[in-house]
Amino acid sequence: MHAVELIERKRNGEELSATDVREFIAAYVRGDVPDYQAAAFLMAVWFRGLTPAETYAMTDAMVASGDTVDLATRLGRRVVDKHSTGGVGDKITIAVGPVVAACGVPFGKMSGRGLGHTGGTLDKLESIPGFRVELTTDELVEQTRDIGIAVAGQTADLVPADKKLYALRDVTATIDQVSLIAASIMSKKIAAGASAVVLDVKVGEGAFMRTVDDARELAQEMRALGERAGMDVVCVLTDMDQPLGRAVGNALEVREAWETVSGGGPEDTRELVVDAAAQLLALSDLGIDEDEGRRRAEAALADGTALATYDRWVRAQGGDPDPARLPVAPVVHQVAAPASGYVHELGAREVAVTAMELGAGREVAGEPIDHAVGVVCLRKRGEPVAAGEPLAEIHARDEAAAKKAEASLLEAYEIGDGKVVPRPLVLEVLQ
Ligand code: URA
Repeated sequence: MHAVELIERKRNGEELSATDVREFIAAYVRGDVPDYQAAAFLMAVWFRGLTPAETYAMTDAMVASGDTVDLATRLGRRVVDKHSTGGVGDKITIAVGPVVAACGVPFGKMSGRGLGHTGGTLDKLESIPGFRVELTTDELVEQTRDIGIAVAGQTADLVPADKKLYALRDVTATIDQVSLIAASIMSKKIAAGASAVVLDVKVGEGAFMRTVDDARELAQEMRALGERAGMDVVCVLTDMDQPLGRAVGNALEVREAWETVSGGGPEDTRELVVDAAAQLLALSDLGIDEDEGRRRAEAALADGTALATYDRWVRAQGGDPDPARLPVAPVVHQVAAPASGYVHELGAREVAVTAMELGAGREVAGEPIDHAVGVVCLRKRGEPVAAGEPLAEIHARDEAAAKKAEASLLEAYEIGDGKVVPRPLVLEVLQ
């Protein structure tokens, strides 16, 4: 395999063979292909795309780069999983996992770190003091069996190809490509061996897929990859024009997920948590439908069993579940509304970029992030506000960073006269 020749062929729009793709990915994981060649390959794919055969080959090669865990076989149960294609303020996994596990269904999965402007579940979980995301294959299995829930990162054992490519895509402007996203997500799902997965495909200004058509294409590619591996896949297209919930930033989002698991939390977050839990329970071996799943999910949130499961899960992965132990930023700065009216738009991407500039995300692969900083949107789309009233909170390391963030956050808000027509959160479900 000659890396330069293979990159050239992809750049020229040729279809690569499964052997080409497999050897290239294997050589990259071994360190025989350097990052600069892998980056050139990714950029060629970004421009040229992958054919369905190449996407299958890429996914297979990524799964084969490490161990696979047949969670379902090892537990003798149907195991469920949920994954988001990447959003702003998306803390759903952290809340939905304990709900599903509290209802008696094993939830074992691999998550990712922040990618581009979007946050990552692993980074959020690492804001919990002591929380360990690097689990061995056996730990992933045993914890899913004993506690009912485990969330791990890609490791040297599990999908190492995604670990390396994910970090490289993050810093080479090669994230938002349908086949690369599909292969990245589905390689993790297939390697972890869940029986069924709910994929939350984000659509809008704050997502990698800006239009419903693009999101549908991504959903269909992921579903084809999952079904080829014998998995049941449900895709839900959801709005990502404004942040989900109010908090954007790692520890701030964990606190909001904890509030949701405790039976409170913002309305949109709770709605997606209950929806996803209902779908996951209906896909499980409980033999119930979605309506019954919804009823059980709501009961777990109300009676404290979801919260008790969250506590057990966080402790099992070495963390302290007490939200009072989450890191807090030294400066909390209130942003006042510049005018009276209704919030007409709240740009998810601008909010995400503000949080990144505060230190909540990375510009360079492997860079440490500041878990405490971020933004809390006190007013969201459709809500009324009077001039001078608090619109948002900025959690920053120092006053200078907070002042700078204020200017960029105000760009995210559009305040106007007249009420705003509400937009649905769930746009489409592909069963
Ligand atoms: N989540 C992933 O795991 N991979 C992507 O490429 C995008 C979102």
